[in-house]
Amino acid sequence: MKFGVIGAGQMGGGIAQVAAQSGFDVVVQDVHESSLEKGKNTILKSLTKLFEKGKISDAPETVLARIQFTTLLEDFADCDLVVEAIIENESLKLDLFQKLGQIVKPEGLLASNTSSIPITRLATASGRPEQFIGMHFMNPVPLMALVEVIRGYSTSNATTEFVVDVAKQMGKTPIECNDFPGFVSNRILMPMINEAIQCVMEGVATPEAIDGIMKLGMNHPMGPLTLADFIGLDTCLAIMEVLHQGLGDDKYRPSPLLRKMVQAGLYGRKSGRGFYTY
Ligand code: NAD
Repeated sequence: MKFGVIGAGQMGGGIAQVAAQSGFDVVVQDVHESSLEKGKNTILKSLTKLFEKGKISDAPETVLARIQFTTLLEDFADCDLVVEAIIENESLKLDLFQKLGQIVKPEGLLASNTSSIPITRLATASGRPEQFIGMHFMNPVPLMALVEVIRGYSTSNATTEFVVDVAKQMGKTPIECNDFPGFVSNRILMPMINEAIQCVMEGVATPEAIDGIMKLGMNHPMGPLTLADFIGLDTCLAIMEVLHQGLGDDKYRPSPLLRKMVQAGLYGRKSGRGFYTY
């Protein structure tokens, strides 16, 4: 099984790591050499931690050796499955899948880890809509069990069965849903995060108090603002825009504070500052 991953960021790096842990041959591509370097270091650190805790039996170097890092899309030509995890930008993803549809061998499957962009639209751009599917991993990929498997309008049963099986081989629990804005996970999660941001803007409570109330009162493992910082505020905004446009209801309007923080470059953990400082 040859497994391709596009994007070596938070998600792409995690997906590549778990695929390599499962024994697959992995190719990771990114447009930035620096992202590949950073991704490689993050993977090695994570593997080392898992190895020291006895959670994996293969040595970190052995797992890492299964991953090829590249800047060339052509290296995906003989992949059986390619999962895209580049930034949440629709025109970039459309352009990428158009190219990929011409590069990957005809029987190869394509998947997107998008949080919210319509799978059916990306599938059409790829030119192989029956062999296209959403494979939505959760962050951090090495630790989170769920893969939300999103069937596009034309996704075939064979594609779905293959991807469900791959997710299981990666030690994950796949759960299927259909292609509607935000799928299930983000249609429910993001409005809650957006509302928490609105509470900060309106001075209802401090970020610490909001997170404390949701953690202790609802038994959530982390508060919504801590989670927003973890996901990335740019990604949260992109998802709210998709829900707002796709469902056409003002209840999905992104909070003006979320918009302002993204404009200011406060993306959360990955930029060092969001609702909290890292
Ligand atoms: P990120 O910013 O950490 O990483 C994105 C990577 O893509 C960067 O390394 C960047 O250099 C690279 N990139 C940008 N344009 C590219 C291109 N044209 N070709 C190849 N590489 C390119 O972002 P992330 O948090 O890893 O998110 C990636 C995807 O996963 C997004 O679609 C996001 O919605 C989705 N997602 C994110 C989370 C989360 O919690 N962050 C959870 C589930 C899904």
